Amino acid sequence: MFKKEFSAGQNLVARDRNLLWHPYAPLNAHPLYAVTSAHRSTLTLEDEQGRIYQGIDAMSSWWCQIHGYTNPHLDQVLNKQIQLFSHVMFGGLTHEPAIQLAEKLKELAPEGLNHIFLADSDSVSVEVALKLAIQYQNALGRPHKGRFIALHKGYHGDTIGAMGVSDPQSSMHQDFHNVVQSQFFLPQPPAATYDPEAETWSVDQTEQAAWEEAAHHIIAKHAAHSAAIVVEPIVQGAGGMHFYHPQCLQRLKTWAEQHQLLLIFDEIATGFGRTGKLFASHWADVTPHIMTVGKAMTGGYMTQGAVIVHTEVAQVISNSTYKALMHGPTFMGNPLASAVSSASLDLLTGAIPSESSWGDNVPRLTHQLVKGLEPARALEPVQDVRVLGGIGVIELATPVKTAEITQAALERGVWVRPFRNLIYTMPTYLCTNDELEQLTVGLIGAIQEVYPS
Ligand SMILES: *Cc1c(COP(=O)(O)O)cnc(C)c1O
Repeated sequence: MFKKEFSAGQNLVARDRNLLWHPYAPLNAHPLYAVTSAHRSTLTLEDEQGRIYQGIDAMSSWWCQIHGYTNPHLDQVLNKQIQLFSHVMFGGLTHEPAIQLAEKLKELAPEGLNHIFLADSDSVSVEVALKLAIQYQNALGRPHKGRFIALHKGYHGDTIGAMGVSDPQSSMHQDFHNVVQSQFFLPQPPAATYDPEAETWSVDQTEQAAWEEAAHHIIAKHAAHSAAIVVEPIVQGAGGMHFYHPQCLQRLKTWAEQHQLLLIFDEIATGFGRTGKLFASHWADVTPHIMTVGKAMTGGYMTQGAVIVHTEVAQVISNSTYKALMHGPTFMGNPLASAVSSASLDLLTGAIPSESSWGDNVPRLTHQLVKGLEPARALEPVQDVRVLGGIGVIELATPVKTAEITQAALERGVWVRPFRNLIYTMPTYLCTNDELEQLTVGLIGAIQEVYPS
């Protein structure tokens, strides 16, 4: 909870000003809070005046921190690996943590996805997936199939290749037009809702049919020049926390096969239970050719992503001129990151007993979020409230007064980071029901304070 207490005056926020850049923020980012400690689902923060707050992390540090901060098992595994060796090059060398992680990913991934590239960040895993698709088409004698088909309002990362397959407007294709190859874009699929009680999806049938017609038309038109279709399955995250119908993925798979395109699912945000299935592709029973994962994989401890590749695709690469996937970052397969990711997967699946296994906890999160966020629907500025798995979204009719909402939520013991017109949460998997209540009550209270009716 909010504590009216003052820190020893380290003045962290003041020291940061004009020194450090923060994501998509000016050098004197405002508001800015300094984290001084973190435990389980709670951050201890201080503001510029030295006031101290405790906030339940409604964001799981941007989808990552599913097992909570200072998790005893993850801490122990990392400490143990530090004693052995922290890093070695992956060229010509291998080690237990990387092998273990790859074995577990292969086990969890949909059938047929058997080969793994360990990238040093999530955006890099997207770059690797794109390069892989181009190498695949080249190897099959189709060098003209060199571009990509993606969705409007998608988000795949901030590196230049990933920007190209992300939404043209929010990824600033105009400003970077000399380096970012703007790809071919399908309309955003229509919004769909999932009813967890009835276990059914619903969507406006007319809108769905119109999307299918438009999407197939664009794919047919550009397939001859495209290597792959790239999408975030079921949930478009940073592009607007938008949920769409599993049938879209089934159609994309059919069209990909018809038009000699690979299908790439970017499960960096949706993977590892967040949408209520282990992978969002399970909602549609569709297996992509390539899948990128990251974020929650690491338990939020280290930077690491992975590309998981179907055997059919890997075989083509193995038989190509290069024989190799032409990528190899310095920190590929980093032993600390691999060890902690591997341990995170054990907690996730319950292979090691934990309070944060996805199967036990995500349905609980769904239930608590549905119940807790429902009252927001009646608030004046609120346009929509939606929940899927461990994701809860309050959409306003206008852009959020971010600084005010952030502060008002902190005063209610909640750390939240709204963007555009969205106040949203994806809590840690070990968030208790009491904490979830504090979180949802806190968000609603913050909206009521900032937008008095
Ligand atoms: C966050 C995200 C990325 C990029 O991850 P970084 O950790 O920023 O490199 C890519 N794709 C999706 C779907 C994401 O949510």
